[in-house]
Amino acid sequence: MCIALLASVALTATLAQAASTAIVDVDESSSELQLTPRLQIFEDLQGRLKLEDLLAKQSAWTEHHANALNLGFSKSTWWARVALRNVTGKTLVRILDSGTALEDFLDFYVVRKGDIIDQRVITGDRRPFNTRPVLTRVPSLQIQLAPGEQVDIYIRLATHDGLHETVNLILWQQPAYATHTQTETLAFGLYYGALLTVLLYNLFLYASTRQRAIGAYVAYVSAFLLWSFTFRGYSFQYLWPGSPVFNNQLLPIAAAACYCMFGIFVMEYLETSRNLPGWLHRTLLGSTWGNVLFITPALFNVYGMSFAASIPVGVTLMVASLTAGFMLIKRGSRPARYFMIAFTLLALGVMLYYAQLVGALPSNVITENFLQIGSALEVLLLAFGLADQMNTLKSDKLRAERKALAVQTVLNDELEALVQQRTAALEAASQRLADMAITDELTSAYNRRHFNTTFDAEMARHSRHRLPIAFCILDIDNFKLYNDTYGHQAGDTVLQQVSSAMRSRLRRSGDIFFRLGGEEFGILLSVEEPLGKAQPFVESLRDEIEAMGLLHEGNPYGVVTASFGLVLLTRDAEEIGGHDVYALADKLLYQAKHAGRNCVMVQSL
Ligand code: GH3
Ligand code: MG
Ligand code: MG
Repeated sequence: MCIALLASVALTATLAQAASTAIVDVDESSSELQLTPRLQIFEDLQGRLKLEDLLAKQSAWTEHHANALNLGFSKSTWWARVALRNVTGKTLVRILDSGTALEDFLDFYVVRKGDIIDQRVITGDRRPFNTRPVLTRVPSLQIQLAPGEQVDIYIRLATHDGLHETVNLILWQQPAYATHTQTETLAFGLYYGALLTVLLYNLFLYASTRQRAIGAYVAYVSAFLLWSFTFRGYSFQYLWPGSPVFNNQLLPIAAAACYCMFGIFVMEYLETSRNLPGWLHRTLLGSTWGNVLFITPALFNVYGMSFAASIPVGVTLMVASLTAGFMLIKRGSRPARYFMIAFTLLALGVMLYYAQLVGALPSNVITENFLQIGSALEVLLLAFGLADQMNTLKSDKLRAERKALAVQTVLNDELEALVQQRTAALEAASQRLADMAITDELTSAYNRRHFNTTFDAEMARHSRHRLPIAFCILDIDNFKLYNDTYGHQAGDTVLQQVSSAMRSRLRRSGDIFFRLGGEEFGILLSVEEPLGKAQPFVESLRDEIEAMGLLHEGNPYGVVTASFGLVLLTRDAEEIGGHDVYALADKLLYQAKHAGRNCVMVQSL
């Protein structure tokens, strides 16, 4: 808008008083003739004059030399005229193209022979679409020129509320005009097609991701599409040809919506509330929602005021957006980079388009479409930016998930190690407890409880496997006397020493050594065949105790000795029972004591 205003200032051509109508020679050499620089214009301040009034008296017409007729904000009615002279010997048919889809009231008059009004077309975008003789988005008129004939073309330009559109009169040969409209239609078709595709794609993307920036983008592109379609005159031609008022109201509404959605998109996409200083975010916020205000005058059919008032807000929004982009680029933001490139492309498109309008650039299919090219590239690039942002989010999420997984794995490993450690400690502790429960504290032999619970089972096991077995009880001789002589503690030490000596001799897996109580021990022996071999082994145990030479003065042998009662099990233990075996061993021990101690009494069962 800003650039458009500047352009209109530049276009205000030096006006010079004109004597007579400028005559443009029409022949077959050129397919299009630019009539605008050849126009003469006349300002009708009250807007009450009719063509007949102008023809009747001399009026103050001025020359207009610019490439486009841009009257900008003006409440006056303006007239433009040019004379066409057929310099060929043939009848020529030409199309007069007004070059504006938006001028409110646009009337064409073809005057022949100086004062005969031959054609009168009363149209413009505030009149129904079917007032146009040729149903094109830009009003145009077909003119026939007889050989050598000169006709005067008068055009009346009036507005509903003081804003004129840029008029660019071109006289076309019919085939060139057909080619021009077809090319233009194709170009716009491609343009709207591209925008619509990106729009729909992002709409679906929004439906599945619910990302606010994508939603704002969809709204922005929708508003832009609606605005562009209306601005170019296509909405009027195809959507509501019978509703000129609505068509005019929609234009500022769509423009305001476009600005508004653009602002929301910028704020969402660049996350300005989080990333930028408060004043800049508030400026963006104000200049975004300020646009909504300008919808109101449009609703009351005050189009020009709505447009004028929106300019400062629009410019503020653009400047704030650019500032935001620059600030974020400096901080290395990727979205800002996409945004600034997109924005630059749009601005470039707008500037080149107006450069073409004012004649600084040659007018051709490409330069005439700079605005479309720029805005399409902008929209596409922003879509790329959104996709890139989604990628960034996705890879951030993936990285975070991987990190969380790694942390979790480490924690799991640590936990597992801890559990293993604790389990091992617990197992060791419970093993220790279990050992303690069956071990005699003083001598480390199995205790009486263990003897009680295992003796029968051990006997049964041996008989099941048909293993030969022997059981003996040993009792230290005159031990009471030992305690009395050397003290109870010394007695304890003797018990430990005897136990240790016995255990070191009992190496076979089936051998079990019990402390049955006091100074009395039980030995379960797994014996090799023949069973008789058990007796010499037990004798060797007895010898061993005596050989230890533990001084015991009260004992007839002078040293600590022990007596043994040994039972050899020749029958199945099952038939006998542990109790009988024990009773017999005890009886044999008793006999050994009576036989003088330090001896082994043996019997088979
Ligand atoms: P005998 O030769 O007939 O077996 O005579 P003895 O004195 O060894 O037999 P008696 O059963 O009369 O005495 C056993 C003694 O063993 C009595 C008790 O003071 C002693 N005694 C039992 N348990 C312990 C112990 O744990 N430590 C000590 N130091 N002495 C114990
Ligand atoms: Mg005893
Ligand atoms: Mg004893």
